[in-house]
Amino acid sequence: MIVPVEPLKSILQLEQKRHYDNGAVIGGLDGFVSRWAAQVSQRRVGPRFLARLKKLELTRPNYASWDVEKRRKWVERLLAWLAVAEDEAQQSATVSSKAPPLSRPTKPVVWRAIPDAGLNAPIASVKGVASGVGGKLSRLGVRTVRDMLYFFPRRHIDYSNRRFIADLKEGEEQTVVATVWQASSEFLGGRRGTVAVVGDETGNMRVVWFNQPYLAERLRTNSRIAISGRITVYRGIKQFESPEWEFIGDADEDLLHTGRLVPVYPLTQGLFPKQMRRLAKTVVDGWADRVVDFMPDAIRERCHLAGLSWAIRQAHFPDSHETLGGARRRLAFDELFLFQMGVLGRKREWQESQPGSPLSVDRGLVDRLVASLPFSLTKAQAKALDEILTDIQKPKAMSRLLQGEVGSGKTVVAVVVLIVAVANGCQGAFMAPTEILAEQHFNSVCQFLKMLGGREEESEASMRRYHGVLDRPVVVARLVGALSARTKKALHQQVEDGEVGITIGTHAIIQKDVSFRKLGLVVVDEQHRFGVEQRSALRQKGFNPHVLAMTATPIPRTMALTLYGDLDLSVIDELPPGRQRVRTRWVYPEERPKAYDFVRRQVAEGRQAFIICPLIEESEAVQARAAVAEYERLSGEVFPQLRLGLLHGRMSAEDKESVMAQFRAGDLDILVSTAVVEVGIDVPNATVMLVEGADRFGLSQLHQFRGRVGRGQYASYCLLLAENPSEEGRERLRLIERVHNGFLLAEEDLKMRGPGEFFGTRQSGLADFRMAKLSDVALLELARTEAMSLWKDMRLIKSPEYQPLMAELARTWPGVAEWS
Ligand code: ADP
Ligand code: MG
Repeated sequence: MIVPVEPLKSILQLEQKRHYDNGAVIGGLDGFVSRWAAQVSQRRVGPRFLARLKKLELTRPNYASWDVEKRRKWVERLLAWLAVAEDEAQQSATVSSKAPPLSRPTKPVVWRAIPDAGLNAPIASVKGVASGVGGKLSRLGVRTVRDMLYFFPRRHIDYSNRRFIADLKEGEEQTVVATVWQASSEFLGGRRGTVAVVGDETGNMRVVWFNQPYLAERLRTNSRIAISGRITVYRGIKQFESPEWEFIGDADEDLLHTGRLVPVYPLTQGLFPKQMRRLAKTVVDGWADRVVDFMPDAIRERCHLAGLSWAIRQAHFPDSHETLGGARRRLAFDELFLFQMGVLGRKREWQESQPGSPLSVDRGLVDRLVASLPFSLTKAQAKALDEILTDIQKPKAMSRLLQGEVGSGKTVVAVVVLIVAVANGCQGAFMAPTEILAEQHFNSVCQFLKMLGGREEESEASMRRYHGVLDRPVVVARLVGALSARTKKALHQQVEDGEVGITIGTHAIIQKDVSFRKLGLVVVDEQHRFGVEQRSALRQKGFNPHVLAMTATPIPRTMALTLYGDLDLSVIDELPPGRQRVRTRWVYPEERPKAYDFVRRQVAEGRQAFIICPLIEESEAVQARAAVAEYERLSGEVFPQLRLGLLHGRMSAEDKESVMAQFRAGDLDILVSTAVVEVGIDVPNATVMLVEGADRFGLSQLHQFRGRVGRGQYASYCLLLAENPSEEGRERLRLIERVHNGFLLAEEDLKMRGPGEFFGTRQSGLADFRMAKLSDVALLELARTEAMSLWKDMRLIKSPEYQPLMAELARTWPGVAEWS
């Protein structure tokens, strides 16, 4: 017995949230429930179930005429009853989940007949899942049956493209089944890895795995393995480089001969490929057909999307490359579409649930500010400034992303807008991702105010007051961790009193204990996204300020609109005139002494240099240790006569600031740093950026490093050292040597590395894109168009046919009030 619980349940819950106003469904709740009951009775449900259904008296209630109390009781009774039904459904699902044989044809799927029940059952309740396995699965994020259905293989081994070793072709993706002759752990490019020699009846070949020395022990001589991947040629010999592989037992010969695409799942300690595959098969066979296709028919037809159950099945166990492609397209569309719906929903919520405070813009003032700068704004800067000024005069809170190449002059634009806010009697917050940057912004805001004719009056370390810029004093405060508790407390008070006009610090300033008197504008620098949490933190404090986010990570336009559909977009696509093109060179290992000589010569001419330490791993602690070692080596052995400083993420805020201050003041010749120096540092006298292990950084990051030099009048250089780059690493180095446009580089980067790595771990929302590729612009646009047109017609979304979609949205975006 299977009961479609989910749609009714979410409607009832929605009704509860609406405090029983009979508004959850158009046409009344009782009508919906009766139709539901009628549908259910037509199913093959047992007599016991029917009897209980009757008892609920669903046929002639008159919900509309009841008072709230009566409505509440009725809804609660239904929900309690549904919970029981759901349990029963889960149990029966567990019993009937035995995997049918491979060859059995799968039934056609009609979504209305397919209930959602049982999908939320814990994965451990699936027959055949041993007790210990549940814990391991949860480490992979698989807790329920639904999680498993959506736990897609990383890739598939194509056993239909199986070759003999003698027939392998360079560059192609192929599979061989071979016997291991020997395997050992060896140094590969400075790090331990595994090298194996394997053979079949036609020949032998080399297989290498970088960074996996432990494989050597597992690959015993004479074991049989299937290996799948691309073929490269190393010293004239064909080899696999870090291929997918697995042990093959005698029992697997079948698998090999069926010639199909076999899924390869992400694993964790103690889980084995075959075990995962079997589990996936059980779950897919038992539950895929029960997934309700939430996508409205109209959209499915318009966009030529495959059915959801079919897509899930094919994504795991595809019949062919074509069906796999179709499945991926459907599932990718779902991700993009749901994401887009949520993003647009949030935008509406911000803009409509709480009016922003329009600021008035005195054009005369703005012109005067801009005219007193020592340079004239570039066309792109002026345009961006215009767009922002137009936004802040509207009663809707601004939500704008300002994208601009490194060094394109975003800060000055932000400063002008901050001053406009202060002129309105509002406060502004200027936030940076790190304390180092916050310090620097404080300095540059102060400098700008001086350029604008400001007379500095008070000169405490943490606060400055400028007269003469506006008809009221402009007070700037820097709120950083390094301040003493007393100073901080005093500052907080002054912010609260509205004394301070512009507060500069890290993101903590809007979250923690600071309360503003009248916060009108928030500028967020170098952050890709001003998150929901921060917004709601502000709203709880009663503010809905205009928000200007700035980033130098250039993202192609379509992608930006998709990811930040909640933001409007301004782009500064032009550098101030006279900027140096930073000469960039990939330096071979044997040229290292020459590179060091070059640094010495530049320092002799009075310039300064950055040296970036190689990226070891994400851990800041490891990174810091490596930086200390590199610093000691460089100052002891390489540049004993020069003044070196060290910067890494584990240093205290004071130490960081003091070393930065020394470098800015020219008291250090060379700054040895981890990637923390990546964004925003502005030292015009620095002319050399030397990056160690450059092949391990992404293109965008290298471009950011490069942007640290060439900011003054001197010719500048970027030297990229790489010991033993992979083919992809080489490709990146060749590109960055040649290409100086950050947007082009970002696009290339994205193509080469995929969005996950491109955005790094910072971009948490992207973790949920398992199928969608942001490089698939056509699908991106399709999903965006559909989501936008659906948003235009809320009536449609709220109609009963769209309930499954609503339920899905509520699940993916629990925070959006519109559907939760
Ligand atoms: P980014 O966009 O990377 O944050 P900044 O705002 O740090 O760039 O600007 C880089 C440098 O360029 C700063 O020293 C700034 O004073 C200067 N600058 C900004 N706009 C112009 C301009 N229009 N002409 C000349 N220099 C400018
Ligand atoms: Mg900047």
